Amino acid sequence: MRCPFCAHDDSQVKDSRPSEDNTSIRRRRQCEGCGARFTTFERVQLREVVVVKSGERREPFDRSKIEQSVSLACRKRPVTQERLDQLVSGIQRQIETMGDAEVPSKMIGEMVMEGLRQLDSVAYIRFASVYRDFTEARDFEEFASSVQEVSGRT
Ligand SMILES: [Zn+2]
Repeated sequence: MRCPFCAHDDSQVKDSRPSEDNTSIRRRRQCEGCGARFTTFERVQLREVVVVKSGERREPFDRSKIEQSVSLACRKRPVTQERLDQLVSGIQRQIETMGDAEVPSKMIGEMVMEGLRQLDSVAYIRFASVYRDFTEARDFEEFASSVQEVSGRT
């Protein structure tokens, strides 16, 4: 696994353990180049899913984009990383088990909003206020930058 700090190609696994809900394996790694430590997660991916974005653009489903939006919405809120992981895993599982090879970006945005609504009211309002401003022309991944602006103001 490439080091995110210095881009060295190899890292050593120092520790490996299942997450609390046992849906992923968490590995602590150390870069063999610069010695930096970082964490990777191993998760089951049931199927390849393509996300249909505005203008009919398509790209492979990327869990990290949901993670980014969700963690920004929950910034400085009393929500644990474990709960965030569960929310994102739940959305991922829903998408992967829907049976469709293609999922509209907008639908993922709705799932994120619904998940946040149950998790934390402030995070939900942050996300929803941005979400509602969105027109068809924009994608849920762009929430991340907008959510950052909104939460930066409050
Ligand atoms: Zn490194």
